[in-house]
Amino acid sequence: MKTHAPVHVVGGGLAGSEAAWQIARRGVPVVVHEMRPLRGTEAHKTDGLAELVCSNSFRSDEWQTNAVGLLHEEMRRAGSLIMAAGDLTKLPAGGALAVDRDLFSAEVTRRLAAHPLVTIARGEVEGLPPADWDSVVIATGPLTSPALSRAIEELTGEGGLAFFDAIAPIVHFDSIDLGTAWRQSRYDKAGPGGTGADYLNCPMSKLEYEAFVDALLAGEKTSFKEWEATTPYFDGCLPVEVMAERGRETLRFGPMKPVGLSNPHAGGARPYAVVQLRQDNALGTLWNMVGFQTKLKHAEQVRVFRMIPGLQNAEFARLGGLHRNTFLNSPCLIDATLRLNAMPRLRFAGQITGVEGYVESAAIGLLAGRFAAAERQGATIVPPPPTTALGALLAHITGGHIAHVEIEEPGAHPPSRRPRSFQPMNINYGLLPEPDPASVEVKGPDGRRLKGKERGFAKKRAMSARALRALDDWLGAETSAAAE
Ligand SMILES: Cc1cc2nc3c(=O)[nH]c(=O)nc-3n(C[C@H](O)[C@H](O)[C@H](O)COP(=O)(O)OP(=O)(O)OC[C@H]3O[C@@H](n4cnc5c(N)ncnc54)[C@H](O)[C@@H]3O)c2cc1C
Repeated sequence: MKTHAPVHVVGGGLAGSEAAWQIARRGVPVVVHEMRPLRGTEAHKTDGLAELVCSNSFRSDEWQTNAVGLLHEEMRRAGSLIMAAGDLTKLPAGGALAVDRDLFSAEVTRRLAAHPLVTIARGEVEGLPPADWDSVVIATGPLTSPALSRAIEELTGEGGLAFFDAIAPIVHFDSIDLGTAWRQSRYDKAGPGGTGADYLNCPMSKLEYEAFVDALLAGEKTSFKEWEATTPYFDGCLPVEVMAERGRETLRFGPMKPVGLSNPHAGGARPYAVVQLRQDNALGTLWNMVGFQTKLKHAEQVRVFRMIPGLQNAEFARLGGLHRNTFLNSPCLIDATLRLNAMPRLRFAGQITGVEGYVESAAIGLLAGRFAAAERQGATIVPPPPTTALGALLAHITGGHIAHVEIEEPGAHPPSRRPRSFQPMNINYGLLPEPDPASVEVKGPDGRRLKGKERGFAKKRAMSARALRALDDWLGAETSAAAE
């Protein structure tokens, strides 16, 4: 068998461990560089690989109607180490896959350490990887060490790397009541690439606005961790409830300002206040609540934001939050195989690419590992199709997200424009293309027409079945490409 030079993986977390496994399984040597225990992070407590820093859950394991469950299944079929160790160390948790965190990390560490093609090197990579590492996967996560962060920032330029994510909730388009909300841009301005009707507007009367402000003020909030509170990166993206605390009118002069808008459902009248949603993905299936970053607890967000007229039945693809997080403006900086445009010997994986969550981070590690191994072997790299959960996540970070448009800044007067920001995301069905209507069941086993939630489940089942068919074809095609 031909021997190859090693691929270097920086970071032995969820993504780095999975990437290393995928590389070694393909017969390519790999060195995993993990800085713990020589240098720690604010959240990790052990020296184990793939340490789970908070919850011990990989969320739902049900693949037919749950997007993260579908991602689990795809990863299992693709020979994932993280899923194999998770399945081996699972704990009773209903429909979720929860694991014993110590046994899980020990199993990942044991399997990698036992693999003849894997070397585990303890030590921090303190800047750009040495020039003679010609193939590198950087998987250093949301708490990438400062020296490496600085080097990546210098390489990618201003705005290339973010240190905080200020996430506003994202709503599934088909759960928005269009009998109440309407499409219009402020002052009907089209702007570059716009139509003049680019926003969905949810109107509020004075009474509704006052009740909403009261609910924001009373809502239960999560607190910053001590080390997050001292990170000075979140100036200028105040949580919506903090704006409400500054005065009852602050929101009405900020993101909820009604100027330049007229409600066609109320004879063209200007509403008292407005919540705007902006298209968040190229498919048009996901819309984000503009300026609504929040530290409200998740259950509170669902309760309080469903008070907004037009969002009374809203289904949230992602809820809001503010966290310390290091992530790249990936759609502008990395190519379809996760390589940095500015230095293609560097590939990125995990949370630093702008996905969110243990499973999603490992999923991008899985892809980065396969791509790096294929490149090393001179084989064709075949990315997974966007109809799979793996392909949809990849599309989100490498360009599926509409990251390049200029947008109207709602709080500013006169309206200013700034480049669209890219924010991390969990896997969800809104990232996958709509199914062929003919593939969605219309009747249940009892012959009754499916309605409401049941129809939603039927659609998800069709998307999941399509995803697994496409995944199996992709795995088959990848194997033939590797054999060429
Ligand atoms: C406080 C916190 C809580 C979270 N809680 C959850 C949760 O409950 N559920 C969930 O799904 N997701 C959670 N996340 C989000 C995310 O899914 C996890 O952080 C996940 O571990 C990311 O995987 P990763 O492989 O990208 O990074 P990590 O798992 O963090 O791995 C990165 C590794 O790189 C190492 N490293 C960093 N810099 C260097 C360097 N320069 N040289 C060598 N090694 C380096 C680190 O020590 C670490 O081992 C949380 C994140 C944070 C910060």
